[in-house]
Amino acid sequence: MKTLPILFTGFFLIYCLTYFHCSLAQTSSTNKIKWPDDKQVAISLSFDDARPSQVDVGIPLLDKYDVQATFYLVPSAVERRLSKWRKATATGHEMGNHSVNHPCSGNFTWARHKAIESYSLSQMRKELVQASKEIETLLGVKPTEFAYPCGQTFVGRGEHTQSYVPLIAELFNTGRGWLNEAPNDPGFCDMAQLMGMPMDELDFSNVKDIIETARQNQQWIVFAGHDIGETGRQTTQVSMLEQLLRYAQDPSNGIWLAPVGTVATYIKEQRSN
Ligand SMILES: [Zn+2]
Repeated sequence: MKTLPILFTGFFLIYCLTYFHCSLAQTSSTNKIKWPDDKQVAISLSFDDARPSQVDVGIPLLDKYDVQATFYLVPSAVERRLSKWRKATATGHEMGNHSVNHPCSGNFTWARHKAIESYSLSQMRKELVQASKEIETLLGVKPTEFAYPCGQTFVGRGEHTQSYVPLIAELFNTGRGWLNEAPNDPGFCDMAQLMGMPMDELDFSNVKDIIETARQNQQWIVFAGHDIGETGRQTTQVSMLEQLLRYAQDPSNGIWLAPVGTVATYIKEQRSN
């Protein structure tokens, strides 16, 4: 009968040690980062592919509110509206890299001839460096931010699959995903795998819900969109965007609205302090 209290004491000690170890692990991997000027939530607006509607419709609207966004560019698409993209660069919008050929899984029939299942890491590196060079030649700025085409982060297939996240970490300040379900925790997030939440086809009530949820944990929402217009597939609605800009610029809402690179650099500085 004497073994019972000893057993209990043993279990209790193991429980305490495990609990202490877990708490310690949590605190060491998560730093609480405060946003500047007592803001409660950070938002970055980003748009992919250098689609013409971004410079035709979106940038004039953003400029009206003096808000800078992040644009992930495919150089050949920039050439279709070169003077407008140059003007947008001069206005302070951030120009990121979205690859030369927009390679994605060959399950998309349009991507079969540039399927990431057939890519190697060295080819990916070569094309990413090429995209940055072409963007710098066209716009005079060297991209420091990247968005994964189709949000996919691998090359190859099966046993030969390799992540290209380490390559993005080496070449860029940040790498943004697509179709992710949550905002980023500034104390924890991996800059090479930022979560990108879709804003296409949403109305403002949906977007406001996302903002208010993120506010509770002082998170960073990186919204991602494609076309900018009235309606349609992969289109960020002008009416939603205008309501979002007004909401974010009302000081009583405590929102820090800034390009991806600006927020990422701020977080890195806070982490190193
Ligand atoms: Zn894309």
